[in-house]
Amino acid sequence: MTVNLLDFDADGLTAWFAEQGEKPFRARQVLRWMHRSGVADFDAMTDIAKSLREKLRARAVVAPPAVVSDKLSDDGTRKFLIDVGNGNAVLCISTQAGCALDCAFCSTGKQGFNRNLTVAEIIGQLWQANAALGAVHGDERVISNVVMMGMGEPLANYENTIPALRLMLDDHAYGLSRRRVTVSTSGLVPAMDRLREDCPVALAVSLHAPNDTLRDELVPINQKYPLRMLMAACQRYLEKAPRDFVTFEYTMMAGINDSDAHARELLALVRDVPCKFNLIPFNPFPGSPFRRSPMDRVRRFGDILLQAGIVTTTRKTRGDDIDAACGQLAGQVQDKTRRTAGRIVPIQEIRP
Ligand code: SAH
Ligand code: SF4
Repeated sequence: MTVNLLDFDADGLTAWFAEQGEKPFRARQVLRWMHRSGVADFDAMTDIAKSLREKLRARAVVAPPAVVSDKLSDDGTRKFLIDVGNGNAVLCISTQAGCALDCAFCSTGKQGFNRNLTVAEIIGQLWQANAALGAVHGDERVISNVVMMGMGEPLANYENTIPALRLMLDDHAYGLSRRRVTVSTSGLVPAMDRLREDCPVALAVSLHAPNDTLRDELVPINQKYPLRMLMAACQRYLEKAPRDFVTFEYTMMAGINDSDAHARELLALVRDVPCKFNLIPFNPFPGSPFRRSPMDRVRRFGDILLQAGIVTTTRKTRGDDIDAACGQLAGQVQDKTRRTAGRIVPIQEIRP
């Protein structure tokens, strides 16, 4: 059977090479060709013996996902659609086609879940972005920061996210700093604990509400892992994290979670968790019942957090003219769950 070498992290590749009777340093050479130099063709791997190249050609491929479209927004944001087969399209860097967690305000969630992306499909997004940006200048790659904030919940596809993260960090692959690779999670507490042990990178937690009543509605996984558990998990994570704070993402929806009282409730909630806040003005999508908080409301909300000494930034809404902004990442996802439509309002339209 032909294997896709992009599915292996460094250890996985070494193990596969050993099975083929090849030495570990050969695996490292190939890893560097694939990820540092962006080379997919074995024949271009010039310092590899011809006999080994032939063997590799017979048994393996380097197959990144195909880029099906590449749109440029007026503000310079670039949206890559990457074909992962069966009519799914995902955006850089995503971990799943769709998402099963069904957050009320998320376009991805409203489409349902189709499947987990493979390691090759996850790391392939970085591979393709580097290639598209002409980023491989000798050993210098342009992309220095990766956020796992595309489609899907990375910690719900743990098995494939971890090897992809390891490749991002590996000096023989992308060599990114742990501090510059961020996993964003809606709060899968047991997986947060595993991530802390297996591959601690910067952590962003999608909070969106200061109390369980509201968060149960907005982020249904909260019913399983409520805020007290989540805050404790954040504290545990920080024991091993490469940064000494957690970033809380907070999508601002008019009249839902954006009052002064909500801000003050948040301060009490996160009192014992070293954190920064990133406020995300809600990005509308067809069929969504929510509206974006007015900018002066976002500012006022942020000021309350700032005055309490919490570093707070507001995410610039970028790329919304091409549906590349947060929560607008959508393709045609064939829902494989039997979930009934969202608890707040069913979505009427799925964007092509
Ligand atoms: N599943 C992960 C990562 C992907 S979502 C998570 O939930 O954290 C990346 C961020 O965009 C999350 O904070 C998510 O809550 C936010 N988001 C989702 N839909 C949004 C929307 N319509 N407008 C603004 N932010 C949104
Ligand atoms: Fe999934 Fe994140 Fe969207 Fe929630 S916000 S549905 S966890 S992608």
